[in-house]
Amino acid sequence: MDFSISEESRLLTASLRRFVEQELQPLEEEVESRGEIAPEKAREIFLKSRSLGFYAMNMPEAVGGGGLSAVEMCLAAHEMGRTSDILVRRAFGTVYELLLACAGSQRDEWLLPAVQGDRTCAIAMTEPGAGSDAAGISTSAKRNGRGWVLNGGKHFVSDGAFSDFFAVTARTAPDKGAGGISVFLVDKAMPGVTLGRNQPMMGLRGGSHVELSFEDVRLGPEHLLGEEGRGLRLVLGTIGRVRLFDIGARAVGTATLLLEMMTRHANDRKQFGVPIGTFQMVQAKLADSAIEIASARLLGLDAAWDIDRGLDPREKVSMVKVYASEVLGRVADRAVQVFGGLGYCKDLPIERIYRDCRVMRIYDGTSEIHRSLIAKGMLRSGAAAVVPTGKPAR
Ligand SMILES: Cc1cc2nc3c(=O)[nH]c(=O)nc-3n(C[C@H](O)[C@H](O)[C@H](O)COP(=O)(O)OP(=O)(O)OC[C@H]3O[C@@H](n4cnc5c(N)ncnc54)[C@H](O)[C@@H]3O)c2cc1C
Repeated sequence: MDFSISEESRLLTASLRRFVEQELQPLEEEVESRGEIAPEKAREIFLKSRSLGFYAMNMPEAVGGGGLSAVEMCLAAHEMGRTSDILVRRAFGTVYELLLACAGSQRDEWLLPAVQGDRTCAIAMTEPGAGSDAAGISTSAKRNGRGWVLNGGKHFVSDGAFSDFFAVTARTAPDKGAGGISVFLVDKAMPGVTLGRNQPMMGLRGGSHVELSFEDVRLGPEHLLGEEGRGLRLVLGTIGRVRLFDIGARAVGTATLLLEMMTRHANDRKQFGVPIGTFQMVQAKLADSAIEIASARLLGLDAAWDIDRGLDPREKVSMVKVYASEVLGRVADRAVQVFGGLGYCKDLPIERIYRDCRVMRIYDGTSEIHRSLIAKGMLRSGAAAVVPTGKPAR
């Protein structure tokens, strides 16, 4: 086993660290207090990020992306985790690998502008009646000649207000369960598409999570992404990688930042005439956090390494999603405690992180759903999910 990091990756992460510290962290307080990021500021950080080659780093070079390997993407996401969700979204873009399923003229219409950052895409799967049960949706796309007519509604669409188009799951065959769902690329400006209420959240200030409704939206064959009836497989298959970077590795980065802050504070803050780091109950919080962060980091890199070798990472990505998000939750809680009243006070970013990170255990599949996926994988194929060599892609 070789755990060394290449010189190229080291340079990339060092320049990302600089960008996050110099360009993004200084904006955090303003975004938090205003509840939004000014559009001109968002544009400015996007342009800077793109000029530095930081936009769409996860996408292949062949389509204009950064072409980073999965391991490199994890290392990059550790750095992104050092700032807030909204700033990461505006600066680096969440270009869904799902769009790589674009074929023919779809590439020019949807994929390439997304990789360039000229148009942005949000995923619209969840409905008021169907969350964890992604196959239980009622949004339908009924055949109409060569195309379809889309009706229904979605909610909790992240980045909905900032996006130009949506990847929407819809039922195309009412009697086929999960095999009767397809994905359509739907432009926000199409007649019949209505952007609804912005749903206020516990954290993620400055973000947008919206309701969407579709009324007799006419879609042509050019709107169908991938094959008809294989939409759920397509979406769930491709957002797996995003989970690894965007949740797993980013959670590790945020937890590391908190641990650095806690450690400094434990050295600097004196009570009873000594640094609070002298107290064993404070030390235990630092040590437990260090153990858990190191484990989550290695678990994530191991899953990424499997991806880079063409192995099936599904159960491992689920393990990373569950573990890293829960580790961050525990570390954030300990950070509040180690900082005492200051940890609860809005003068420091800790209370924001404490609120923001809670959702990582909920979106993109709850911890319960991922635990059940891990167990089902094991019941199907023994304990293969934890064998370090992984399994060949299914
Ligand atoms: C901030 C935010 C951003 C989001 N962004 C998006 C987005 O961009 N696009 C999108 O499509 N969706 C998005 N979502 C939706 C998110 O993915 C869902 O909230 C999530 O999948 C859970 O679905 P639900 O909220 O309907 O909860 P439910 O499915 O109703 O679950 C409620 C509880 O029951 C448990 N449960 C359900 N089924 C099982 C089971 N089989 N076994 C054990 N326990 C179970 C769950 O784990 C949970 O604890 C977002 C949500 C939030 C909060």
